[in-house]
Amino acid sequence: MELSIEKKLFNLGKLSRFDVTGMVRLFGLKPYLKDAPFIYPAVGFKGNCINLFKVLQTNLCRYNCFYCSNRQSRKCLRLSFSPYELASLFLHFYKKGWVDGLFLSSAIYPEPNKAQENMYITLNIIRKAGFKGYIHTVILPGVEDYLIKKVAQLSDRLSLNLETVDERYLSKLSPDKKFKNELLEGLKKLSFLNREKPLKGGITTQLVVGVAGETDEETLSLADKLYKRLFIDRVYYSGFTPVKDTPLEGKPACSSLREARLYQADFLLRRYGFKLEELVFDKEGNLYKELDPKLVWAKKHPENFPVEINTAEKEKLLRVPGIGLISCERIIKIRKGKRFRVLEDLRKLGVIVSKARNFITLNGRFYPALKKEVVPLSKEKQLFLWEEL
Ligand code: SF4
Repeated sequence: MELSIEKKLFNLGKLSRFDVTGMVRLFGLKPYLKDAPFIYPAVGFKGNCINLFKVLQTNLCRYNCFYCSNRQSRKCLRLSFSPYELASLFLHFYKKGWVDGLFLSSAIYPEPNKAQENMYITLNIIRKAGFKGYIHTVILPGVEDYLIKKVAQLSDRLSLNLETVDERYLSKLSPDKKFKNELLEGLKKLSFLNREKPLKGGITTQLVVGVAGETDEETLSLADKLYKRLFIDRVYYSGFTPVKDTPLEGKPACSSLREARLYQADFLLRRYGFKLEELVFDKEGNLYKELDPKLVWAKKHPENFPVEINTAEKEKLLRVPGIGLISCERIIKIRKGKRFRVLEDLRKLGVIVSKARNFITLNGRFYPALKKEVVPLSKEKQLFLWEEL
């Protein structure tokens, strides 16, 4: 029985949430329209919020990844869009003004090249119809070079999901895939392509965290290498969620706190000038869950504090817990014209004062240390979300 196009859209949109970009999951961002699980908010190039049409071309898959709802041996409704169907839907939503861009992904069937070719044809129809906006395309593992190049010409951002840290852990998640020769090699190709002819949105990858037994230290060490050696723009951390009727259904979900700490540590590496060796891990090799990674570092290095807000260099200000990239820029701009004297001045700029006060002086004045810095995670998450903007 052929399903209506609306039902296909609903199902394939819902399934694409397993390929989450940005911090959709972490921040619990909701689809833009009620009953439209295929429209998700994302951060655009100018820091603005854009709605992405996010859908799978098909959920038919030849692979059997242990965690995935689309794995071959799982009984479920199998659906596919023809390139024309998918392109028409996207253009319809775009013309209505409900979406600004496209995030196109797919399961792998009948084999990687054919699945990617279908995605390419979809993109081609969309571009030929005059759409000039943002397109993020997922490159499937094992796809040939000529096809990657063709897809790159029509995309603003490409991603290829590495899944996990190395071969050992991959065998616990995706037994059909090869870490080095397939996933890493594929990502290297994207990196090379991006250096030859830079994509507007660069390249990204995603790791499933919290189920294969990898430590946060291993995860962040890989991310650090990817940033430095392959010039990846973003590594996304997708906390494991058990799916019914999969081999990992009995495993506990990864806590959103673990995912949040990974993102915070990742920010420190990418944007705050921290080195991997400076991150503090517990004896199991994981980040401390109770405190954010910058606060843990600051407590371990009292010799770097207090920092005088009115005179410290940017690098030092950025090391103060509770001061983010944006609040740091604001402090530097404003202090050219006036001296900061009271904590309230900082609060107005977005500084989390309850965190920062123990590590700063204002015009030479110390503030009494708070015994406990109780900062709700929601506030911490908010800080990082805005810092990304
Ligand atoms: S390749 Fe693996 S993760 Fe991707 S859709 Fe197929 S089973 Fe799922």
